[in-house]
Amino acid sequence: MEQIAYHVDMSSRDTRSRPPAAGSSAYPEPIRALIDELAALPGIGRRSAERLAFHILKSPEPDALRLADAVRAVKKTVRHCRSCFNLGDSDRCAICADPKRDRSRILVVEQPKDLIALEQTGMYKGLYHVLMGRLSPLDNVGPGDLTVSALFDRIKHPDKHAPEGVEATPVGEVVLGLNPTVEGDGTALYLAERLRALQVRVSRLARGLPTGGSLEFANKAVLADAISGRQEMM
Ligand SMILES: [Zn+2]
Repeated sequence: MEQIAYHVDMSSRDTRSRPPAAGSSAYPEPIRALIDELAALPGIGRRSAERLAFHILKSPEPDALRLADAVRAVKKTVRHCRSCFNLGDSDRCAICADPKRDRSRILVVEQPKDLIALEQTGMYKGLYHVLMGRLSPLDNVGPGDLTVSALFDRIKHPDKHAPEGVEATPVGEVVLGLNPTVEGDGTALYLAERLRALQVRVSRLARGLPTGGSLEFANKAVLADAISGRQEMM
């Protein structure tokens, strides 16, 4: 499976390097290991990790093993779509494989979570492209670290990306759905300049999204408004 790094959330620390909390050596080794793994998850403190570990310990075995199986399945079967880099369980994600989607339109987002938020509005019927982050010169994230060249390839060669039995459609519009942050704006400007050279209309999600905010946390109405009121980038 192709491993693709996310160039976002640079602030998240690897909590595994933390020394074990005082008192945790009193636990038998397997319980301590489980607590350590749970505590390494984002947003889970030591106390919550202990609570979850004891919940798992008390659960009937089939219930607890379902959790283990779900973790295993996600790591073994979920992969990035080879056209748009959305998550799916086969070569092409469900959206790219859907013959009813409008293939003349591509909405560019930073992460799969943004795509899911926009998809839940039900307002957009085109395709997506997940950049896997955003340009960030300060963190040394350049275009080569994102899926930028794959986006240009989709526009230049729509035939290569049409699923079997679906006619290739030229891309006429790219909607930039980057987060309204300094880095998102910089990425949008970088893409807009290069996309226009490819003779496609470039628009950007509209008003309503607060500056510095994040697509994944915006409510449905705001996102629906942003899609319908998108503005052409000059
Ligand atoms: Zn896809």
